[in-house]
Amino acid sequence: MRLVRFPASDKAGIPETTRKGRPVTVSPTTYEVFDPATLEVVGTAPLHTAEDMERAVALAGTAAAAWAADRGARRSALRSIAAAVRTQSGRLGEILSREQGKVLREAVMEFQVAAGLFDYYADLEWDQTEQLPERDGRRLSVDYRPVGLVGAITPWNFPISLLAVKLAPALVAGCTVIAKPSPSTPLSTIALVELMNGFLPPHVLTSVTGRGVLSRALSTLPGVRKISFTGSTEVGTAIMAQAAPTVKRVTLELGGNDPAIVLPDADPAFTAAGIIGSAFRNAGQVCMAVKRVFVPRSLAGELTEALAAAAAGLVVGRGLDAGTSMGPMHNAAQRDLVASLVTQAVNDGGKLAFGGGTGTSLPGYFMEPTIISDAPHNTPLVCSEQFGSALPVSVYDDVEDVLAQLNAQEFGLGASVWTPDLDRAGELAARIEAGTVWINQHTQVELDAPFGGWKASGMGRERGHWGLSEYLQTRTVNAMAGTHAVAAAGASSAAQSS
Ligand code: NAD
Repeated sequence: MRLVRFPASDKAGIPETTRKGRPVTVSPTTYEVFDPATLEVVGTAPLHTAEDMERAVALAGTAAAAWAADRGARRSALRSIAAAVRTQSGRLGEILSREQGKVLREAVMEFQVAAGLFDYYADLEWDQTEQLPERDGRRLSVDYRPVGLVGAITPWNFPISLLAVKLAPALVAGCTVIAKPSPSTPLSTIALVELMNGFLPPHVLTSVTGRGVLSRALSTLPGVRKISFTGSTEVGTAIMAQAAPTVKRVTLELGGNDPAIVLPDADPAFTAAGIIGSAFRNAGQVCMAVKRVFVPRSLAGELTEALAAAAAGLVVGRGLDAGTSMGPMHNAAQRDLVASLVTQAVNDGGKLAFGGGTGTSLPGYFMEPTIISDAPHNTPLVCSEQFGSALPVSVYDDVEDVLAQLNAQEFGLGASVWTPDLDRAGELAARIEAGTVWINQHTQVELDAPFGGWKASGMGRERGHWGLSEYLQTRTVNAMAGTHAVAAAGASSAAQSS
């Protein structure tokens, strides 16, 4: 197997000048990164320290003013980056597939999505200054200025597209960024940052990699003005607390437990194909995947059969192998958690309708696409975020009960309604407490529509102009024509009489 290796010997810490003359993340020590399918080492990444993070923050400060001043240069750099990422998406996708486990096609797609985001934000028109109506001789303008240094903290499930959705608006807004990937998927982030640094001024963008204390350092250091985080609700709330003493802004994209609500008139085969395509994408490790299905009693048997038939079409294997349509889960803890939730759902009265196995000829963290029918509404596989290759199907008698149950829960990331009756679907969608409601599809996101969660699923929005505004702050300039001659004369006569 070819190893992906990165430079790792700069005694002075970060950053080091590469062959391209741009900074990359390096460190005197490294740690190994593993392939979740084979458990082989696929490369090494710098094991940065909290002191390295402090240096990265200080260096970002040296680049901030010039970067914030030249909007044209920022847009042009992002366009060049988009083109280079597209051209190199095959090579980059392979790095991502190896360290994350996902199917190569989906890994390449992540980089193409990133390129689309860089182009979108480079082209997005927005006013840096807005004039408000004049009043009582006063002129008001509002400047939109970058918030400053952004810490971008990302999870392991979509290391590149979830980073790009932060980098593109942050950089175009004029912010500098430190990217802190998940410890288990650093290599693709390093590769992307290295490529981007071929087009960016030094220290505008840095990646810092490692374990433990690093993330905490980023969300506590005073020079960091904003944390943009994607990950679990548990860590998101910790970050809010860590960021509070230095009053950092936060954008939090957190967990979800998206339901698919199937109505009695839904076509079973069409609905099953759509649900399976969402539920087992990236081995089910998608924040906005269908994580549970609610089906009316009249359709339950037919829909379960159709779901099992669609799941049977998935080929589980190593992401890099041709023909694989679902890779392993990313780590042992996640796989074992989901397997135990499946066991508990069966013990609670659910039925194993498809899958259930966790073994393949490879030693990695595999789990068959697994469907549990008749899953009780209160079993943890249904009512907690399971984040893996399992899909519970729960029966309902009254859709109003399902709606009440869902809206009473803490997650509010996404949901979908499946029916040919778009009016009925729209009426239900309008009553669901979630950041996105899909109709007859699930998981599709758009460049120009906001994405984010309600309640414990997050705060702030990514994508579209909403995503850009997360990286801007306003400065109101309130100007009155002063009567300075009178004031100056008054001041001078006051001085003479004293
Ligand atoms: P995680 O929350 O464990 O870790 C995410 C990132 O936070 C990692 O880089 C990690 O190193 C860092 N981190 C951990 N502790 C920290 C701390 N105290 N301070 C600062 N940073 C810290 O998430 P994960 O296991 O990598 O990813 C899975 C989770 O992410 C799931 O809950 C999933 O729903 C969620 N997710 C949400 C979205 C969304 O857009 N809403 C998208 C993808 C994943």
